[in-house]
Formats: sequence, C-alpha cells, structure tokens
Amino acid sequence: MAKLTISDLDVKGKKVLVRVDFNVPIQNGVINDDNRIVAALPTIKYIIEHGGKAILLSHLGRIKSEEDKKELSLRPVAERLSELLKQDVAFVPVNEGQELEDAIAKMQAGDVLVMENTRFQDIDNDFGKRESGNDPKLGEYWASLGDMFVNDAFGTAHRSHASNVGIATAMEAEGKPVAAGFLIEKEIKFLGNAVDNPEHPFITILGGAKVSDKIGVITNLIPKSDHILIGGGMAYTFMAAMGQNIGTSLFEADKVDLAKKLLDEAGDKLVLPVDTVVTKKFDKDAPARVASGDIQDDEMGMDIGPKTIELFKNTLKGAKTVVWNGPMGVFEMPRFAKGTLEIGRSLAALPDAITIVGGGDSTSAVKQLGIAPKLSHISTGGGASLRYLEGKPLPGIECISDK
Ligand code: AMP
Repeated sequence: MAKLTISDLDVKGKKVLVRVDFNVPIQNGVINDDNRIVAALPTIKYIIEHGGKAILLSHLGRIKSEEDKKELSLRPVAERLSELLKQDVAFVPVNEGQELEDAIAKMQAGDVLVMENTRFQDIDNDFGKRESGNDPKLGEYWASLGDMFVNDAFGTAHRSHASNVGIATAMEAEGKPVAAGFLIEKEIKFLGNAVDNPEHPFITILGGAKVSDKIGVITNLIPKSDHILIGGGMAYTFMAAMGQNIGTSLFEADKVDLAKKLLDEAGDKLVLPVDTVVTKKFDKDAPARVASGDIQDDEMGMDIGPKTIELFKNTLKGAKTVVWNGPMGVFEMPRFAKGTLEIGRSLAALPDAITIVGGGDSTSAVKQLGIAPKLSHISTGGGASLRYLEGKPLPGIECISDK
C-alpha cells in the first residue's frame, strides 16, 4: 500500500509538525557538516511556499546528563537553517510548555520554528527516557501542537520514539493526516524497489567489519539478488568456513557454521575475494603484500586484492540494480582503501543501473571520490537502511498513513 506523502497534503494555513533529522556533528556550538540540514530543506520549503507553518522537531546526540544539554542544543542548527532558508527561524529553548505554545500561537503562514532537542526529554522526569522510550503522553502532547504530521527523519525510522511513532499514533487516533516528507519518500522509492521489485541483474555488495551485522541482509537478499559480493572484514569468516587459512584477520568463530550454511544455500550467488592485501600489523604504514590463498599465520587481511577488484567489476557489468553497504577494507588507511574506492568508481561508471549506497563508510568513500551525483540514491540512514534491506518493517515508516 502506498504511503501518504507531503505532496498529498493541503498545508495552507496549517500548523505542520515535521520530524526532521538534524542530528549533525557539532562541537562547541560549531556545526562541522550541515548535510542533514540541507537534506531537510525540500520538505521545509514545500511547507512555507504553500503557506503552511513549519514546526520542526529533531533529536541531536544522546542526552544522559545536564552537562550534555549544554553541548547538544539545537540553537546553532536553527541559526544555520535560517541562513540556508534566508529567512528568520524562531528557536524555542524548550520543547514543552507555555513558552513553546505561545511561540506556535504567534506563527504566521510561511514561518518556521525549531523547538529544542527532543532528547532533552530523556532525563529529569518520572517516565525515564520519555522521547527514546516513546512515552505516549509525550507523543500526544506534541501531536496536540499541530494539525498534521510529516515524518522526514529516515535516520531514526528504525526506532519507535515519541517524536515519530508517538506523534503519528496520536495524530491518527484524532483522524489527522500523517505523511512522509520528501526524504523518506525517496528512501521508500529506492530501497523499497530494490528489495521488493528490483530490475535484474540485481547485485548486492556487502562489506564492513562483521558478518553478524549483515546476516539479516544476506539472508533476505540471497533469493532476490543475482549475486552478492562480499568484501571487508566480514569476508574472512566466510573464507575460514571454506577451509582457507585467514591468519589473524577479523573472524567471528561463532558465525562459521552459519557462513557454511549461507554458502551452501547461495551456491555461486555469493562471490568471495580471491586475493587480499595482507599485513602483519594493523597500522597505516605497515608493509603490505597481496596474498592469493596463501595468507600466513601472522598476517591479516586489510583490503580486497587486484584480482578480486577485477572479479567484482566483471560481475557488476550489465547490472541494472546495485545496492552497496560497507567498505571493502580498512579504507580509513589510504594504503588499504583501494578496493573500496575502486568499487565506488565502478558503480559510478555503470551506464544505466539504479545504484544505491547505504552506511556511513561507503557514503564517505562516495564523497571522497566526488561521485555522489552519478549514483541514484545515497541513503541517509545507516541502521534504518540495513533494517530495510533485511526486509523488516520500520516503525517510523509503518506509522505513516496509507493513501
Ligand atoms: P561496518 O560499520 O560494519 O560497515 O564496518 C566498517 C569498518 O569495517 C570500517 O571501520 C573498516 O575499517 C572496517 N573493516 C573493513 N575491512 C576490514 C578488514 N579487512 N579488517 C578490519 N577491519 C575492516
């Protein structure tokens, strides 16, 4: 069933509550990366350009003490938003009570208001974590402040918090609309199509540290993918399951049986490295060599080797849908970044494929290469996109009204 989206709403003159993802890196009040604020602009602009009043809620970091509150106010975010929108943005230093209600009552069509970090509700009260624990009373209170609710925070869509599921539940109970913003709409379009209805050949590329983090994705995508390419630290547990010596490479002993089972089930759908760049020390300057099936006991795999890069590139040829999550090696160290960067390049070079990248590390590789414009979609949520690829429901999306 298709979900209601912001373009289905008549926002004119309405108080539109919007859950955005303003969880930006911030230090001493200085925002180091405003990508997430920029990403929220289309939804906010749509509301103001159509005569609505945009009331924005977001979390920022984790609040465990009063001290955290000083560091994690949304005030600098509201200031940055004001610069980006080139209009005043009201910031209210609380997210409950008279001061907030008065500020909302004063809003005119086209106004934007940011209330304080929703996770300030996670301490100093009887409930405990009112926001992160989804206190229904808090959801009801926030819902009472608006006429409709738009969820545009994909990064928290895999969690049930008061500021997404709580508000949505209370709004729906009152017959008020709950819609997806443009960001979530795009995530549903790309990730949803890839999982439910991919154009073939459909290739999944998985990397990163642990098999255990990606088991759900592998299991869900084996029947749907034509190939799953496995690199990164997680490849070594599979290689060990195939009886290869992996030296001191990353290894999850308790996942070997599962890896064997997946290899049996998937047949040649699972494509593993045929060579690896190895070193004796986990160090950016450590001397390295390429091992082809001859990893020594004192060596660890740090990146996929040149033959594997070729193998992966050849497998990708002609692909129509590609999903990539997780680096092919320890790409933070330039000496071991080649596999990850080459995979990024080959994705960007695919002539007419839907290419989807998720996860923080693959996304930063894409940015490092400057290839973002050549890819179809870069997911804004690591945990949420993995959950989607596992085929599991996301509470922050489930709670959006059906059309
Ligand atoms: P994840 O968060 O699971 O996507 O894992 C990302 C991390 O995996 C990165 O910090 C990489 O440095 C690390 N990683 C990738 N390949 C390897 C490897 N061969 N050995 C150790 N760590 C790795």
